[in-house]
Amino acid sequence: MNKPLIEKLKEQLSNDTRIENDEKTIEKYLRGTEGLNIFSSKKRTLVAVVKACCDEDVKSIIDLANRYAKDDVLCFSLYPVSTGNNWGYGTSQPASLNNNIILLDLSGLNKILDFDPELGLVTLEPGVTQQQLSEYLIANNYNYMVPVTGAGPECSILANALERGYGITPYTEHFAATTAIQGYWADGTQYQSAVYLLDKSIDKFVDKTFKWGVGPYLEGLFSQSSYGIATRMTIRLAKRKSAFTSFFVQIQEDSLLEQAIPLIREVLQRYEGIVGSINLMDKRRILSMFAQNPNGNGSHSVMQANDVDKISKQLQVPAWTIVGTIYGSKAVVKTVKSEVNAIFKQIPSKRIYSDSAIIRIANMVISSLPASLISIIPTLGRVKEQLSSFNLGEEIMLGKPNKVALKLAYWRNPNADKVEQAVMHPSNDGCGLLWYAPLITMKAATMREYVNFIREICPKHNIEPFITFTNLKHDCVDSTIPIVFDLSNPDAVKDAHNCLKELVNKGLKKGYVPYRLNIDQQQWLLDSQNNFWQTANKLKKTLDPNNILSPQRYNPQ
Ligand SMILES: Cc1cc2nc3c(=O)[nH]c(=O)nc-3n(C[C@H](O)[C@H](O)[C@H](O)COP(=O)(O)OP(=O)(O)OC[C@H]3O[C@@H](n4cnc5c(N)ncnc54)[C@H](O)[C@@H]3O)c2cc1C
Repeated sequence: MNKPLIEKLKEQLSNDTRIENDEKTIEKYLRGTEGLNIFSSKKRTLVAVVKACCDEDVKSIIDLANRYAKDDVLCFSLYPVSTGNNWGYGTSQPASLNNNIILLDLSGLNKILDFDPELGLVTLEPGVTQQQLSEYLIANNYNYMVPVTGAGPECSILANALERGYGITPYTEHFAATTAIQGYWADGTQYQSAVYLLDKSIDKFVDKTFKWGVGPYLEGLFSQSSYGIATRMTIRLAKRKSAFTSFFVQIQEDSLLEQAIPLIREVLQRYEGIVGSINLMDKRRILSMFAQNPNGNGSHSVMQANDVDKISKQLQVPAWTIVGTIYGSKAVVKTVKSEVNAIFKQIPSKRIYSDSAIIRIANMVISSLPASLISIIPTLGRVKEQLSSFNLGEEIMLGKPNKVALKLAYWRNPNADKVEQAVMHPSNDGCGLLWYAPLITMKAATMREYVNFIREICPKHNIEPFITFTNLKHDCVDSTIPIVFDLSNPDAVKDAHNCLKELVNKGLKKGYVPYRLNIDQQQWLLDSQNNFWQTANKLKKTLDPNNILSPQRYNPQ
């Protein structure tokens, strides 16, 4: 323990800012879903966790880090997290293996500073979670959607945007919806935009309405970087529309993928602004949401083809499922629904709509049946569970956060059965998860080649090939492959990492480039010598001359 440093921090920071350096707290923040320790002899460590109570203390601790940068005893670097739930990409662990790191937990800065109900612009601090924003909007009867993700209610809105995360509500890309940021560069200089500083009005509101500002776009430097700490952000929220339906297009034949892709593109191009992003998921990925792992949760092998066939028949899961949403007035939704239906009818498919009579009736029937009856008839139990997941999935599309998607992280967790959905927390519960999230060109042949690639490589490493494609636009697809493994099994952890390495290295040769990297990849994958990272390094030296902020985060050495 660095006692002199802890004393200095206590002296300089407000009483309400907590400084915790007990083993239990530090162990909690160093717990990730990624199993990163497996290959490295050096373990991550923390001197302490500082839970900041206010913006001023963020500035004070940055100043302290700079002041002591040359002091052998007191020097430290800072690693900020907002809610620290970056599961699969590092969770709350610092990128660097240095041994003088202070983790700055900003979850206590959780004020919703401003909301303009006319325009739907919300300004919030780093600790504001999806759940908090949802409750705020509901309590005030504001008809706007939370930019939800599959990571669920306990995750920060601001940090997810900084990481360039995305969801499935109409403003899919969260950094794209960010209109203003304030904070501090790593050298302690305050950041406010040029528009904000030029504006001489009292509320300086117009800054919040325009993303690009005037002059160089410095706000981008806060995202996927280590140049500054954002202490507030304004995000544009999508308004709830008077009508809505989600569509589920079920395609039985795997070989129809190539025919389905141009249809998805056509829907997105024709109904831009009405149809949100579209997800395309394969059979195994859908089973991970609805089925029990037939091999048992602690297993280290992929599902056999005959098991997949059997369970998918039972649950009526097709080879591919297209999931999308139509938002608009009643008349618009009705028209677009029938046109979308006509488009997908061109291929053999079953098309289900969340506002259809069959879903409404199924919900009514299931909710009217006594629990005792459902518990003794397995088919009813399964239908109830499927309907519940379906309804929760729909809530997400309407901008209401929940934990339904977190189940995926528990596919190979030996204790999965003991965890209730309401309290799921993948890193606390010992889940093993890494992400492979490459951008894939939205062309049928490329996507088929990619599917074959995933189906060949993942099983070689005993990893289930769960495939999702998300259209961020008609011309931009990101695929997310969750590499789910048993974190308590060292062989499984090794396999997971080898799988990710092979996917990344071989994928790059085919043009599959990840949009986001975990803290380990940020070092081995990025070439510090190429012009891009050399330029980024010049910026780092200017904004963080003492290298005190998040060393090695998107900053290859
Ligand atoms: C089952 C499952 C589903 C998921 N689905 C999605 C999904 O749909 N979309 C998606 O995007 N992600 C998804 N994730 C990944 C991830 O969990 C989320 O992106 C999550 O929001 C990130 O965690 P956080 O919000 O707590 O960010 P944090 O962990 O707080 O922050 C992430 C990183 O951003 C930086 N940072 C944080 N705050 C600041 C700040 N104030 N200033 C400067 N830098 C900062 C830090 O380097 C930090 O490590 C999913 C994960 C799981 C397990």
